Amino acid sequence: MKEMLIFDLSRNGRRGIRFGASGLPSKPVEELVPGRFLRREPADLPELPESEVVRHFIRLSNLNYHVDKNMYPLGSCTMKYNPKINDCTSDLQGFTSMHPLQPESTAQGSLRLMYELGEMLCEIAGMAAVTLQPAAGAHGELTGILLIKKYHESLGSKRNKLLVVDSAHGTNPASAAIANYDTVSVNSNAEGRTDIEDLKTKLTPDVAALMLTNPNTLGLFEKEIQTIEELVHGNGSLLYMDGANMNALMGITRPGDMGFDIVHYNLHKTFSAPHGGGGPGSGPVGVCEKLAPFLPVPVIEQIDENGNVSYTMNTDKPESIGRMMNFYGNFAVLVRAYTYIRMLGAEGVRRVSENAIINANYLLSRLLEKFELPYPKPVMHEFCLSGDRQKKQHNVRTLDIAKRLLDYGFHAPTIYFPLIVSEALMIEPTETETIETLDAFAEALLAIADEAENNPELVLNAPTETPVKRLDEAQASRKLNVCFFGC
Ligand SMILES: *Cc1c(COP(=O)(O)O)cnc(C)c1O
Repeated sequence: MKEMLIFDLSRNGRRGIRFGASGLPSKPVEELVPGRFLRREPADLPELPESEVVRHFIRLSNLNYHVDKNMYPLGSCTMKYNPKINDCTSDLQGFTSMHPLQPESTAQGSLRLMYELGEMLCEIAGMAAVTLQPAAGAHGELTGILLIKKYHESLGSKRNKLLVVDSAHGTNPASAAIANYDTVSVNSNAEGRTDIEDLKTKLTPDVAALMLTNPNTLGLFEKEIQTIEELVHGNGSLLYMDGANMNALMGITRPGDMGFDIVHYNLHKTFSAPHGGGGPGSGPVGVCEKLAPFLPVPVIEQIDENGNVSYTMNTDKPESIGRMMNFYGNFAVLVRAYTYIRMLGAEGVRRVSENAIINANYLLSRLLEKFELPYPKPVMHEFCLSGDRQKKQHNVRTLDIAKRLLDYGFHAPTIYFPLIVSEALMIEPTETETIETLDAFAEALLAIADEAENNPELVLNAPTETPVKRLDEAQASRKLNVCFFGC
């Protein structure tokens, strides 16, 4: 189905609303607006009745793919269903009508929410203190790296390198570069985990920290985390955890207990805030005791005067790295995460992770029939298949498979990431999918694998069922090449 542009639906003189006279004394517009700002020609605006505007946008939303429509298996992105109650609470007028500059005494509820959310995040990750300011995961990484920098400066130690494992999210080396560090890549071993021998050779005295994702982006738990922790701390370096994958760990184990000094959370992944359309997100950062003095200001603190509890924003932190954002972070996302954790409770949070792991392993077991798994299972909350077999045997690439999935009514998984898997298909089902949905997704991918064998043209020309068909320049140029060679 196609949808016309709203301009093409427009007819002269149609109206959704007519403005009556305001009742205020009126002045000619030329007196109110300087002449050079006045439009000479009438604006080219669409003219439609309200009903047609509503239907137009509803039809557009139906053409769109979103997590309220079907499974969204983007590995590493944790596109889980977001319970609507979180939107209800973040929409409460008491929150939405707050002004960021209003006096603390009139913002006690909001401050308490932020304080308690911080406490819960600390508990979940085993950290001593947290900042809620960063606006996204990558922003949390930058915050964490600036904390690392400040810590080493406070010791008078000059260290200009950050180690990042080669399976890491691209934001890790990018954040390191923005904070003016040289990144050094640490290899993964044949199991898909950090190569300890390689780590040892790269842990030189100028290394400020190791950034590690656990479970890593292959969905594998770093089993040698204790050894890694000893090596890193033994070198006087800090251990940073990219906690975007906390969906696998909650209530089961904690980064703090593994010896991580810093962790960032992705509230818009693990803790249920809609994302995928560009935000707003939230990437709080938790730290161990010794890094707490460096956290961004203001720090939200609880004051207990003989049982009289209140909350305050403390900006008097001389060692702080300063502000990471104007005001206090993306507050509405904080309300959603708070609601989500409070609704689930400690037990529920653990079940989220358990079910995320079970779903991933179930789906993986169904897909092994047709797809290669380059690194051994079991996995945690996600897994990474390779489309090498389909490419080598049938010249159908992962990109083609991903596009064909759209015809089956599913969003594609993350593809070509992490870089250490060729023709990667990285799949994270999350805990919110039923077994029927997981089966339907598995059957779609298995059917596409059959098509790749028996009718590859079908896959190579996909998608054919979507409003916009194949839009891929690499494919277009490949066809051109074929044409040239054919000539
Ligand atoms: C999503 C993600 C990030 C970055 O988070 P943003 O909120 O997109 O900036 C970092 N690391 C990992 C492992 C991720 O999955």
